[in-house]
Amino acid sequence: MNSLADHKKKSAASMRAAAEAELTCRQVCQTPEPSTEVLLHELQVHQIELEMQNEALRQAQSALEESRDLYVDLYEFAPVGYLSLTTDGLIATVNLTAVKMLRTERKKLLQRRFAARVIDEDLMRWNHFFQSVKQSDAATSAELTLRGGDGALFVAQLVGEHRTSGTGETMILINLSDITKLKLAEVQLRIAATAFEAQQGMMVTDANEVILSVNKAFAEITGYSRDEAVGQTTRLLKSGRHDASFYKAMWASIDACGSWQGEIWNRRKNGEIYPALLSVTAVKNGEGKASHYVGVFTDISARKTIEAKIEHLAFYDPLTGLANRRLLLDRLAQTIATSARHGTQPALLFVDLDEFKNLNDTVGHSAGDALLEQVAKRLVACVREDDTVARLGGDEFVVLLQGLNSVAGEAATQAATVGEKILTSLAQPYQLGDLEHRSTASIGITFVSRDAQQDLDRCLQEADLAMYQAKVAGKNTLRFFESQMQTAMTARVSLQTDLRLGIVKQQFALHYQAQVVEDNRIVGVEALVRWHHPQRGIVSPLDFIPLAEETGMILPLGRWVLETACAQLALWAQVPHMADLTTVVNVSARQFLQVDWVDQVLDILRKTGVNPHRLKLELTESVLASNIQDIIGKMTLLKAQGISFSLDDFGTGYSSLSYLKLLPMDQVKIDRSFVRDILVNTNDAAIAQMVIVLAKTLGLNVIAEGVETEAQRDALANLGCHAYQGYLCSKPLPLIEFEAFMKRRLKSIG
Ligand code: C2E
Ligand code: MG
Ligand code: MG
Repeated sequence: MNSLADHKKKSAASMRAAAEAELTCRQVCQTPEPSTEVLLHELQVHQIELEMQNEALRQAQSALEESRDLYVDLYEFAPVGYLSLTTDGLIATVNLTAVKMLRTERKKLLQRRFAARVIDEDLMRWNHFFQSVKQSDAATSAELTLRGGDGALFVAQLVGEHRTSGTGETMILINLSDITKLKLAEVQLRIAATAFEAQQGMMVTDANEVILSVNKAFAEITGYSRDEAVGQTTRLLKSGRHDASFYKAMWASIDACGSWQGEIWNRRKNGEIYPALLSVTAVKNGEGKASHYVGVFTDISARKTIEAKIEHLAFYDPLTGLANRRLLLDRLAQTIATSARHGTQPALLFVDLDEFKNLNDTVGHSAGDALLEQVAKRLVACVREDDTVARLGGDEFVVLLQGLNSVAGEAATQAATVGEKILTSLAQPYQLGDLEHRSTASIGITFVSRDAQQDLDRCLQEADLAMYQAKVAGKNTLRFFESQMQTAMTARVSLQTDLRLGIVKQQFALHYQAQVVEDNRIVGVEALVRWHHPQRGIVSPLDFIPLAEETGMILPLGRWVLETACAQLALWAQVPHMADLTTVVNVSARQFLQVDWVDQVLDILRKTGVNPHRLKLELTESVLASNIQDIIGKMTLLKAQGISFSLDDFGTGYSSLSYLKLLPMDQVKIDRSFVRDILVNTNDAAIAQMVIVLAKTLGLNVIAEGVETEAQRDALANLGCHAYQGYLCSKPLPLIEFEAFMKRRLKSIG
């Protein structure tokens, strides 16, 4: 185009030059009229000039169009939306950005109300904004939620101004930005800020662990104010409780996974060490390197205290605060392991209070508890810190001694020394409220072998067995475990099982032994229980009555004996030569102590219909160890019915004359042990004589048991005892044999 223009320009110029030359020539030659040729030529020149002007005009127009396109582009694709509104609120123009923002088409916006795009809740604000824009000379802004053509909402920032044109028409110009994302970020920021001021302690550090900011809870937990903490490194909080490997593992986790969470001991400004649940998160930059660390932590002292309390309950005895069985077994297992390494010998001491039950029963459980607490303190004071004192329950305590010399004899001496120390300490008087109480203990000791790890309970059992032997040996003493004890205990356990079964299966029978007075007259019969065991054969009451008493099985068994003896007595009442016999039934202290004992006896009397005057109950001196008033009361009630009482085995036990005087007894029985050697042992003779004199003084009958020879019978008669029981007359016999024996006697007398 330029070259064409240039060419035209050049040809026009050369034509003009030719025309001008001709004009000059004419003037010089004074030629008056231009020729047709000249006129034609001039016309051509004129045409060329006209074309040149058109070309310039076209060029200017094209430039104008180019710049208009540019302007339209700027307007349509501007980063903000532009709208112009009439003063009535109708949209007059709208750029493409605004169209897109409103998610619709231009034609659906033009000549429509802008207010239609504003959500109902924001209409008031829109009106207010619109009025302000119309009235104010300055730009006015507002944030409104608009609804797009697709129904989706977005938050828009509107800035509005009014413009009046030369024709006097006022337009409202609005620019529109979608600030939804900005608003969301703002909310998130607010949430983050609120969270930062939450209950949990928070701190932000740089990559070098220098604290950049902390929250309020941080200050509350650690005691360091914001100013004190910022600028310090996190070493400020270290408690010194963790070694380098702890922190190494923590940072290794943060480096590898970007975070770490766990429990950590930190130190407060006041020096106090506290447990915290900490989580550290690395904030990474674009290159994946940690630029900051965010630490969030909670003080878990309270939780720890509760946890500790729960642990305490699980492992400690609530009354005394001593270790319980679980913890003891735990320590025992540890001790076995360490003693093997250290070459030491551990020992278990089983400590059981003597007659504790009596205190509980007579004074009450709170006195019992008070005693147990004091015993616990004394035990702890008797041993070293490494040793464990545990309470298994009731009045049973166990002491685990560590580090005794592994030479057997040495260890025994050391353990016995501790045992003696404990016995002495526990025998000191106790102050229980107003009551001064005396108590003793029995101790069993066993050494824990290395292979005991498999059976910790067995160790305890051994110590328990030895303690039992200490009780048998008279209490307030100690015994070491020996393997025979195990055999004895096994035998005892199997006897106990059999006995229980025997009662259920009714394997018992009564044997009867005659009681003789002067002139060889049989006036009474003692019922003696026998156990017919399918394998053991006939078992002596000496072998099972003590066990039955200890285990309480004497209660059903004793009741059966009384019922059977009374039933027999009732039958004999119908037989003339038996009708005058008095039946003697042995009653153990435990039976007598039952609250309903008197009722039980009266009930049996009623059911069997026996004459109470024909029933004699034999008690041993062990009843004197119990509540004497209670015994007297019960005896008096039964005596009122006609029942009489005899005191068995007199002289072997607690024999207290003053007590004997109190009891409403009818008879005392000289024990077999004094009768046996009455002819050879002057002491025994003297005791027998004393018993006889005493009985007479108290107005009681006297009978001797275990009389086997006539010489014994005569010696007793000489001392004034004419009644006896023994092999001399008859052994205890099964029912049929006893009845046959009585028949034979009847015949021989007859
Ligand atoms: P105990 O009541 O003192 O009974 C007397 C024991 O001496 C009986 O032993 C009897 O067999 C034995 N005996 C009698 N005369 C002679 C004799 O001349 N020589 C010798 N060596 N022994 C003689 P047993 O029957 O073995 O009873 C032993 C103990 O068992 C009884 O002593 C009594 O304490 C207790 N017992 C027996 N049956 C019962 C019962 O039904 N209930 C209670 N609670 N205890 C009973
Ligand atoms: Mg007896
Ligand atoms: Mg006896």
